[in-house]
Amino acid sequence: MNPVQQNHYDVLVIGGGPAGTTIASLLAEKGRSVCLLEKAHHPRFHIGESLLPMNLPILKKLGVLDQVDAIGIKKYAAEFNSTDTLLAQDTFYFAKATTPGHPFAYQVRRSEFDEILFKNCKKKGVVAIEGMTVIGTDLKDSVKKIHAQDEQGKRHEFSARYLIDASGRDTVLAQQLNSKHKNPKHKMAAIYGHFNNVERRTGKDAGNISIYWFKHGWIWLIPLKDGITSIGCVCWPDYLKSRTMPLAEFLQQTLELIPEVRERIRHAQLEGKAQATGNYSYQSNTMSGDGFLLIGDAYAFVDPVFSSGVYLAMQSATKGADLVDQLLENNTPHKSLISQFESSVAEEINAFCWFIYRFNSPALHKLLMSSDEAAQHPIKQKLKSAVISVLAGDAYNNTKIRLPLRAFKFLYLINKLAEFKKNHAFNHFRKQQNQT
Ligand SMILES: Cc1cc2nc3c(=O)[nH]c(=O)nc-3n(C[C@H](O)[C@H](O)[C@H](O)COP(=O)(O)OP(=O)(O)OC[C@H]3O[C@@H](n4cnc5c(N)ncnc54)[C@H](O)[C@@H]3O)c2cc1C
Repeated sequence: MNPVQQNHYDVLVIGGGPAGTTIASLLAEKGRSVCLLEKAHHPRFHIGESLLPMNLPILKKLGVLDQVDAIGIKKYAAEFNSTDTLLAQDTFYFAKATTPGHPFAYQVRRSEFDEILFKNCKKKGVVAIEGMTVIGTDLKDSVKKIHAQDEQGKRHEFSARYLIDASGRDTVLAQQLNSKHKNPKHKMAAIYGHFNNVERRTGKDAGNISIYWFKHGWIWLIPLKDGITSIGCVCWPDYLKSRTMPLAEFLQQTLELIPEVRERIRHAQLEGKAQATGNYSYQSNTMSGDGFLLIGDAYAFVDPVFSSGVYLAMQSATKGADLVDQLLENNTPHKSLISQFESSVAEEINAFCWFIYRFNSPALHKLLMSSDEAAQHPIKQKLKSAVISVLAGDAYNNTKIRLPLRAFKFLYLINKLAEFKKNHAFNHFRKQQNQT
């Protein structure tokens, strides 16, 4: 292997997932010389298969929407199921969002999705190298350096005017800068696998994600195009620590705790291995510095519940491409551009955080899953539409949803006070789990 001819570029990108390939493609389109280093080889497995409607404009901008349509299955809604609310099931259709421009998203196998994005960035002129692991960086001088190692153990050095870390959960720069910290407000872990023969919803609902609350956390069912369903359980640490059997057996046993899930998987079999991801919620104290930027999971990851990870990764990459291009142009003051970028990325993450931190709380269950009759009230409909906009990834700068979201949060508070004991007990439990 000798793909490394020229080693100095305008921009170096660490990681060829959704964030890295998006920023690399967009910067190459702007005429920048870009080199991307990926430690694995595509296609490779990755968790994170359910996309959001607001991914679609980014996929269109990248020119890959048709290819994603070919490998994906359309997801028109997110379906929530609970055993302890008046309404056992409610489906949140994206078409009912406050600004309903994007009525569906896609469920994708990430091996296929990421390969499309990777090939696309190569097509746009990015020097994208697989099997090249970044082992260190040098950020001191104006020229930024990357030290990497190929699969034969040979060392390589790359340099650029700007360095982007899109290394996902490996958080290459945050580790080096010692800026990564666990999220003190959220501590969950997940076990998951791919299953065949899982019962699906019918018609237009066949591609919807199903979410089931249960006493140990919540469960996702994500139908994929080839008949496989991705199933995962996101659980409190104490429950996962109680495991005394092999992971696959524990996954099956956990799924069977919910009667409806048990019914849907009665003919199903696990294909491949069951997998686990320990406490996954973290953030870096630093999003950028002199000549470098952290995007996607390399900066922060909170929780999979609203399928926001890939969207947030690609959205921070899209904004990051504009920022880096302007910084390289060097004709605008740096600080204001960087702080605008940082606050917009943080705002998008925070829009999801409010719901994520409360997702398992009885007050939010009750509010999301009220009875059919109550849900028909026009004001309730308006609030639900605003929540759907957030779930679609359309919260940033969306002034239309501000007021209804405030009202929704106020109602949440009332619900919490109305059942103070129950909610207080839950908060106590959550805090205790966060400290384990
Ligand atoms: C249990 C779970 C379920 C999830 N479900 C969903 C979901 O349904 N929908 C959703 O949108 N999100 C989901 N996510 C989140 C989603 O997986 C991530 O947010 C998303 O993949 C982030 O994209 P990224 O490009 O930032 O990082 P990644 O996709 O992780 O890409 C990073 C890339 O960098 C490469 N890399 C790492 N280190 C190095 C190195 N040293 N040198 C070179 N290359 C390197 C990796 O090989 C990888 O290809 C889930 C997360 C978890 C934990």
